[in-house]
Amino acid sequence: MKYIINFDDFSEDNNRLDLLEKLKSEMPNFKATLFTVVGRCSDKFIERVKQYDWLDMCPHGWRHTTIYGDVNDWVLHPTIECKDWTAKDVYEYVGAISRFNLTPVFKSPGWLLSEEAYKKFYELGYWIADLPNNEQKWYKKDKMYIYDSPFKVATHIQNIGTYAETKFGNKGGLEKRFDYLLSLKGNDFIFIKEYLGI
Ligand SMILES: [Zn+2]
Repeated sequence: MKYIINFDDFSEDNNRLDLLEKLKSEMPNFKATLFTVVGRCSDKFIERVKQYDWLDMCPHGWRHTTIYGDVNDWVLHPTIECKDWTAKDVYEYVGAISRFNLTPVFKSPGWLLSEEAYKKFYELGYWIADLPNNEQKWYKKDKMYIYDSPFKVATHIQNIGTYAETKFGNKGGLEKRFDYLLSLKGNDFIFIKEYLGI
């Protein structure tokens, strides 16, 4: 069976490349998609990560802003960065990250994205990674990556849990789920972009 592993909240200040490399050394065919908080990465860091052909970065907000603003413990607070994004906000975001040529699959921090933003991302050629229960906000259904299977594993770089993880028994982050991830040895792994045929 092919597993599609993704880690959320990847950034220069939250990267755990040490553990990712450890997984790779144990499982030579390991690959993972990294939903990346682009504004928390230097250009140099992104260029460095792009050298790993077994890691694929997709955008996951700019600063992952919370209800308290751009705080350091952003991972622990409700994240609202894209909740009220206008079409112009999406246009400017896509423009700001275009130089990195990341895979065009966007996931909103905290699963909160305005209806206007769903539409604008679609018009700009982006796919959206999302939970099935956000369906009423989708602009179209043909360019969505939906967490609807236990083989689509969503977890985090840091150790927190979300709906998608608990639903399929993958609570925790890279460190807490390390043994689980190692138990997948012998399976095939593919990127989200391969699954979607991008
Ligand atoms: Zn996130």
